[in-house]
Amino acid sequence: MDFPITDLMSEKTSEEWIMEYFHPTGVRCPHCDAAWAEAFEFRSTRKSQITVYRCRACRGIYNLYSGTIFEARQLRPSQVVLLVRGVLKGESAATLARELGMSRTTITELRHLIQQNAADLQTQDPLQDNVVEADEMFQNAGEKR
Ligand SMILES: [Zn+2]
Repeated sequence: MDFPITDLMSEKTSEEWIMEYFHPTGVRCPHCDAAWAEAFEFRSTRKSQITVYRCRACRGIYNLYSGTIFEARQLRPSQVVLLVRGVLKGESAATLARELGMSRTTITELRHLIQQNAADLQTQDPLQDNVVEADEMFQNAGEKR
């Protein structure tokens, strides 16, 4: 039996988690680098149900996935959180695809990007031991290279 886990998770809490871990220094406008405080809530996306912000400084729009590997993928915040968790736990693409209601192709692509980011993180600082702090791993997981 597959657990209907995305139905049990709050999109708002998931969104806050993504804000904290993918944007540890705060969300900024990807177009002009203005602070998030200078943007206003512009609309919500229909499929992923996330807020789109419009920057007052440059009029550009962005959301919490801008500048991450999840940009333009139309995933709900709960799907992103559970995908990162599943990849770090070594869940199979087939299991994640069923549980999260996503295609195996998408899971495999994102898994590859997350693992690539993790590998890059480990080689950045060879003096430290190989244990990557979980927080760093999560922060790093969403970065777009
Ligand atoms: Zn801007």
